[in-house]
Amino acid sequence: MSVLSGTYKDRPSLIKSSFHLFFCALILATATASDSAQSATHSSAASSAQSPIVIVITLDGFPARALEDPRLPMPILRSLAAHGAVAKAMEPINPTVTWPNHTTIVTGVDASQHHVVANGLIDLPADGSAPRVEPWVDKDRLVHARTLYEAAAEKGLTTAQVDWVAIYGGKGVSWQFGEKPDIHDEIPQELVAGGIVTRDQVEHFGQKSTPAWRDQVWTDAAVDIIEEHTPNLLLLHLLETDTVQHEYAPLTTAAYAAYAYADHCLGRVVEASRAAGILDRTTFFILSDHGFATYTHTISPNVALVEQGFIRKDDDTFRGDVWVKAEGGAAELFIRDAARRKELVPKLKAYFASLPGIQNVYTNEEAGALGIPSESSTDQAPQLYLTAAPDYAFGDDLSGPLTRQHGPLGAHGYPSTMSDMQALFVASGAAVKPGVTLAPISNLRVAPTIARILNVSLPDAKEPALGEVLR
Ligand SMILES: [Zn+2]
Repeated sequence: MSVLSGTYKDRPSLIKSSFHLFFCALILATATASDSAQSATHSSAASSAQSPIVIVITLDGFPARALEDPRLPMPILRSLAAHGAVAKAMEPINPTVTWPNHTTIVTGVDASQHHVVANGLIDLPADGSAPRVEPWVDKDRLVHARTLYEAAAEKGLTTAQVDWVAIYGGKGVSWQFGEKPDIHDEIPQELVAGGIVTRDQVEHFGQKSTPAWRDQVWTDAAVDIIEEHTPNLLLLHLLETDTVQHEYAPLTTAAYAAYAYADHCLGRVVEASRAAGILDRTTFFILSDHGFATYTHTISPNVALVEQGFIRKDDDTFRGDVWVKAEGGAAELFIRDAARRKELVPKLKAYFASLPGIQNVYTNEEAGALGIPSESSTDQAPQLYLTAAPDYAFGDDLSGPLTRQHGPLGAHGYPSTMSDMQALFVASGAAVKPGVTLAPISNLRVAPTIARILNVSLPDAKEPALGEVLR
């Protein structure tokens, strides 16, 4: 655990030295393969000395357009981009929401196939009460697609995840420190033993903390995993950028501070790879799941459903057959009673399409063109898919005004083609050619590219690997 003291003590020199060493290591990679194999043995035998390593780091909600700002305070990201491949933009899938897109990044298929349309499994309770999104359900119930970590494990490669999503109970993950960490797992135990977190902090991780502190601990966990276990595939999700942009809007003073902190975490991961002696066989993917947009109006469709009698309040509980689940720039409408769908779908579509602030209302069949799953394939599929107009986002309110105005806030969920929703793609390191700039790409291309580097198979991936960025 000594990396922590070193990291914080020598902050100004660390960046310079880590970068010098990082790029020297890359340049030397091919010439000194046997030396580097030796240096790698100091870490762990978990991944064999010759096998490739991929580290995927997602900066939640980091907008592609922020990278174009010369004042962006992210020297590590800039350096990785300058010495690797960067896309002008990366188009997410619909809905442009965290869990669906993280799932695409590790499967290469969209929501029509993997069926993740929210940040968990949407459950419509039998008593007619409000829909719930259940995050802590097993991966196999939630994700209907083969993942990179399963494909890697089948080949005998080792994998790890830190704060990754839709991965609860996932098979093939050797080491983990989850979004909701389990004190019985090996990595939380190691961090407690190293004095980095207390047992109590692990057990109450979501409550007794701040977003920046959670990112710090997740980075601590990634550093520990790299240095002590050296998996072939590490998935790390950093979340503070999302939290701050929701509250203060993207590209604001607060957002730039969050971007800078994310960069600090990136630097710690790169430095850990250098310290572990694996930099010459490591490829980094620095990605985001979606971009972010600013809005000043919230529209709550359930308020209209209450007014029209679809949702009623009895015994202090709202119950109904028709519910809308808001996802920021999108909303999913469910009609519980299948027998009433034929009658209600056209009426509700016409009604919601007439409201200011709603851009489009798609039937389930029409939403298929956006990659939303078909209701014949999963109960996660909505009967109507609503998108918000610019400057509007959906809310889950049941009372109060249908639409309310407020100060600037941030949201995602808007159509994947909207410029503000475009995500980050930077790849850098052992397997990547330096100095490649890509035209906008789809995030469906990430998983097959990683699969090619690791030499594992993802036969269902919808798009080809980014062969043009690979050495
Ligand atoms: Zn997100």
